[in-house]
Amino acid sequence: MDKKVALITGASQGIGRTIAIKMAEEGYNIVINYIGDETNAIEVSKECEAHGVETLCVMADVTNFEAVGEMFATILDKFGKIDVLVNNSGITKDTLLLRMSEADFDSVIDVNLKGTFNCIKHAAKPMMKQRSGSIISMASVIGLIGNVGQANYAASKAGIIGLTKSVARELAPRGIRANAVAPGFISTKMTDVLDEKVKNAILSNIPLNDFGTMEDVADMVCFLASDKSRYVTGQVLNVDGGMVM
Ligand code: NAP
Repeated sequence: MDKKVALITGASQGIGRTIAIKMAEEGYNIVINYIGDETNAIEVSKECEAHGVETLCVMADVTNFEAVGEMFATILDKFGKIDVLVNNSGITKDTLLLRMSEADFDSVIDVNLKGTFNCIKHAAKPMMKQRSGSIISMASVIGLIGNVGQANYAASKAGIIGLTKSVARELAPRGIRANAVAPGFISTKMTDVLDEKVKNAILSNIPLNDFGTMEDVADMVCFLASDKSRYVTGQVLNVDGGMVM
């Protein structure tokens, strides 16, 4: 069977890692992109290969247009095609607006928004040739509602939503779909150590009264990657327990 090929950016840890392993379980050959953490990337590739798929680890800074071009050349060289692009790489540099430096703003926009543009730009050509493809970009509910101390992050994630909708319109005639996933409050090592009072305050704003898991986000990505979502494009799918509605 000719397996589909999925590139997940920032797959060496966190949500990207969970997506890579879940997609391997579903039978995709997996490309693991990372910027610095080679040891983790190799671990992820081993976990993916345990599901009987092929993997490729590629170090590339998504902010660097040429480096992203080289990453796609390497992928096409090995697999001959790219079926799914998951734009997951992301950073935060949280601080109040009055303290936010130009560099804090630029770096977050560069990784989150420009990095997403760079990958879409290089994925579009081979996907257009194939006349198929699914592009999934990680936004955030913060891109929909804003947040104190996250002006840069909110702007980058709102930008991803506008970019996704434009790409969805432009590439739909070529059989390519583009959607965004907007996670809400997802349990990670960082959030696990929060004080009970803080956790309860957050939970009081979540109708399903629970934090999301990385698997919840990965399940949505798998749905958007698959043909089960063949009639879904240009959408922002919130995975937030009903927090934003
Ligand atoms: P994370 O654990 O901090 O992982 C970030 C990943 O991005 C790492 O694999 C890192 O690679 C990679 N990365 C960073 N800068 C890069 C660059 N310039 N080029 C290529 N890769 C780069 O993040 P996470 O919490 O799992 O979040 C993943 C995505 O979900 C992000 O887009 C985030 O904004 C979004 N999100 C997260 C939450 C949440 O609660 N966690 C909520 C809403 C949205 P290295 O390991 O090599 O450094």
